[in-house]
Order: sequence, then structure tokens, then C-alpha cells
Amino acid sequence: MSRQPRRPLRAEATVDDPSARRRRAHAWAPPPRRQVRRALEGLAGRFPPQSRTWNDGPWRTLVGTILSQRTRDEATGKATRQLFAHFPDVISLAAASPQRIEALIRPVGFYRTKAKTLIAVAQVVQERFDGEVPSTMEELLSLPGVGRKTANCVLCYGFGAEALAVDTHVHRIANRIGWVRTTTPEETEQALLELVPRDWWMLTNDLLVNFGQQICKPVGWRCAECPIYDECRFDGRKPRDPIAVE
Ligand code: SF4
Repeated sequence: MSRQPRRPLRAEATVDDPSARRRRAHAWAPPPRRQVRRALEGLAGRFPPQSRTWNDGPWRTLVGTILSQRTRDEATGKATRQLFAHFPDVISLAAASPQRIEALIRPVGFYRTKAKTLIAVAQVVQERFDGEVPSTMEELLSLPGVGRKTANCVLCYGFGAEALAVDTHVHRIANRIGWVRTTTPEETEQALLELVPRDWWMLTNDLLVNFGQQICKPVGWRCAECPIYDECRFDGRKPRDPIAVE
């Protein structure tokens, strides 16, 4: 009895031919926006939006986002609750001692550095911006420890502005699945602003970060359970259905 694959394999997904890959790279063009929207809808079905307790006004969003850098949400939530219970505003945090802040934010990674950063940020906000978190990208970037991703989070979640936060995870995933061809998160941000439908800007960071941590990992990506398999344009995509034989 002859054995036949139950379904045809996706040849494009399995080819590991460098010259073919170069030809495809040369011919690369961004995907249609409707394809990007379909992928985002697929991801949203798998990773429902989570509300974060610290995304509550510009100041708390700024503090929470700094604490969340290279830290899981559960630890950030615990640290922000402890911190805001004792230092609820800019003035109190600007006058705090590093040791006191360190003890409160200990659940997060790099808590000693972050304690110093938070106090410095509070002091700058108090002295240069009259205690109000600034609302422009340029001013936010002038604060200690604030890069574009944090600034975009503050604009987006703190001020409700239209912004798209891009960190290393979003940069990696957007390149892997073929939405962009960029070399830095800054380039990716500009490319995604062109490509991602505006009503998805706010959710894109969370969706791609969760997706990159749980399914499309840097190594050991799990195509078999990928919710956006049909939209993925990655050359290294694995066949979804292993060869099934009768
Ligand atoms: S099909 Fe595989 S490589 Fe493509 S996005 Fe899904 S997990 Fe990542």
C-alpha cells in the first residue's frame, strides 16, 4: 500500500535554499494592511487584552513602565502597588531615599538601578515640568531612563494619544513575520505606523510581546500552534501539519 501525505506540505515554508531566500528578500514588499489586520485579530483572539493597574494617568504609567522594563507583569504589579501605597505622587517620590524605594520595588529586576532612576525622574518632573509629566515625545525623552518605548507607552496609555510602542520584542517579531525589513526598533516604529491600522496601534505592543514570549519565540518557535500561521511570511516557518501517513 502506498503511503501518501494527507495534505500537501507548504513548500515555501520548508525550503532552506540561500539563493531562493536572497531572491525573495530582493523582491520583498510590505504585506497588505488587511493581512496585518487579520493577523492582529488572530492574535487578539489568542491573547485577550489585559488591563494593567499602573496604566492609570501619566505619572503612574511612567513609573509603572520604567518598573516593567525586563520584568514580568505580575512582579511589576506588585512593585507598583507597594510603591504607590507609600509614595503616591511626584513630590513624595522626589524626596524619597533610594533604600526605601529599593525595599518597595524589590519584586522587579534591576530594582536598585530603577529606584535611582525613579527618584531622578520625579526630581526632574518636579523641577522642570512643575510636577506634571510632559506630554510630548521630545520632553519625555529628556527624562532619565526614558527611551522611545517608555515614552510611547506614556503617550498611549497615560495620555490616550495615538502611539505605537516598539521594543526589542516587537522589532524582532515584526521582522520575523515579514511585516517590516528594518534594523532598529526606531525604524520598525516608523514602518509599523505606516502599516498597522490606526485602531490597532494601542494593542500592537502587548499582542506581539505576548506572542513572541509564548509562541513565536526567538528559538523554538511553535508554528504548529500559531494563530497567524496563514499570515506569516517567515522563511523559517515550520510546516503546520507534520507528514501524516496512512
Ligand atoms: S508560523 Fe511560526 S514563525 Fe510564523 S509567526 Fe507563527 S510561530 Fe512564528
